[in-house]
Amino acid sequence: DLQPVRRALISVSDKTGLEEFAKGLAARGVELVSTGGTAKALRAAGLDVADVADLTGFPEMMDGRVKTLHPVVHGGLLALRDNAEHVSAMEAHDIAPIDLLVVNLYPFEATVAAGADYDTTIENIDIGGPAMIRAAAKNHAFVNVVVDVEDYDAVLAEMDANDGQTGLAFRQKLAQTAYARTGAYDAAVSTWMAGAIGEAMPRRRVFAGTLRQEMRYGENPHQAAAFYTDGRDVPGVASAVQHQGKALSYNNINDTDAAFNLVAEFAPEDGPACAIIKHANPSGVARGETLADAFRRAFDCDRTSAFGGIVALNRPLDAETARLITEIFTEVVIAPDAGEEAKQIFAAKKNLRLLTTGGLPDPRAAALAVRQVSGGWLVQDQDTGHVPASDLKVVTKRAPSEAELADMRFAWTVAKHVKSNAIVYAKDGATVGIGAGQMSRLDSSTIAALKAERMAGAMELAESTAVGSVVASDAFFPFPDGLLAAAEAGATAVIQPGGSVRDDEVIAAADEAGLAMVFTGMRHFRH
Ligand code: 5GP
Repeated sequence: DLQPVRRALISVSDKTGLEEFAKGLAARGVELVSTGGTAKALRAAGLDVADVADLTGFPEMMDGRVKTLHPVVHGGLLALRDNAEHVSAMEAHDIAPIDLLVVNLYPFEATVAAGADYDTTIENIDIGGPAMIRAAAKNHAFVNVVVDVEDYDAVLAEMDANDGQTGLAFRQKLAQTAYARTGAYDAAVSTWMAGAIGEAMPRRRVFAGTLRQEMRYGENPHQAAAFYTDGRDVPGVASAVQHQGKALSYNNINDTDAAFNLVAEFAPEDGPACAIIKHANPSGVARGETLADAFRRAFDCDRTSAFGGIVALNRPLDAETARLITEIFTEVVIAPDAGEEAKQIFAAKKNLRLLTTGGLPDPRAAALAVRQVSGGWLVQDQDTGHVPASDLKVVTKRAPSEAELADMRFAWTVAKHVKSNAIVYAKDGATVGIGAGQMSRLDSSTIAALKAERMAGAMELAESTAVGSVVASDAFFPFPDGLLAAAEAGATAVIQPGGSVRDDEVIAAADEAGLAMVFTGMRHFRH
């Protein structure tokens, strides 16, 4: 299954590593053919290269729309070398075999990311490139196809190991990569077009990703796993720089994402904030006078659960906060940036991973959320819902105080990031009890109150930290019981969507208990 590499067609938009690779090929006796810009670059590097236009007998035309779309090129890529008919067709039409195709496509994704206008974007859809890639990949029994600059060295190494030839397994791997690239390319075009014509949920939709990281295992050790990026340029776990520590695991990435998206709800100019996440739910979230203060208060919500957690910060990590964090076992810290001293403090903790992102994601930016079910994908807009203060409706006799209102909005924001049923108690800009993921809202309420009580015990406080707090519920209270449990735990005010058939009953119970309650008119389920 070894095949010689005698002739290469190189046509690349991204000319990174081109010169070195082409020189390597030439040194191994490979004849070079190229399109306009690529040939120019190769000649400038002192290489001997033939022009595709001379091969086809046609000039490159129509702004480069037609360069390589010709039987001389496609015949050379597609001909089966061991098929007598194919060989005689090559001879009859003066077609020489092309054994190696090196193509990277017009930078369509980068053009979209740069915000180009419609016509410029259209012009950046590569036609001849994908056509050649697909042809060469189909004929991988004989032909090598390289679409990734990262694979240049491997081609030379494979040739050196096989006397200038390549093996079938190698070519198959290249072909698989090639089809992934053309698939992702057309997916990007289709996704862009859906946006351009205003089709949020088009009839056909493709998802494509690029391997960012292979993991030792997935959610559990017996599951294989990998991390793919979708090419969007957003500050977050996919684009973060890791400064130290071993590679992130599947669960780390999932939790770090949850942590950073939650803390991004708190704009840095509104003050420092910290979220600590365990199993995709916050164990504590807080604002603070300083970042260290925010961390301490988030930690104090549930010190037990914070052990081995993920810490997300909305401002650059400073030395004081870094020192505090190192006092407990933490898996990952993610922040927009980190100071030199903070980095040095972390350096002593080898297992602690530090990620910086260069900024915070915009919590209101539209994006898709995708989840897999048996036989399909569920796709929806990400929950970017936000209730401005002016939309909150007071439904009880007593209106909330300014302080209560501020805490209600804080608790509501946190509840959006807690798995349903979510109940969040908060006081003075910090959560004091979080109940997550229960099948009954009453159970979430009970658990949140229990946690507040337990922390008060651990901190040797005279009363539960829930006393004087406010409570947020991600969906309406279907019965007064959950609400009454909150009142009993010491909450003085409630924020919830409203909309239950028993709202009247629930409001009456709130009035009876002296609670202030506001309706948001918006639900934040998260499953
Ligand atoms: P160059 O810089 O060599 O002039 O052009 C290289 C680019 O042209 C590559 O990205 C390649 O995929 C693309 N390309 C090659 N042949 C064709 C063609 O026939 N039509 C179009 N639209 N693009 C082509």
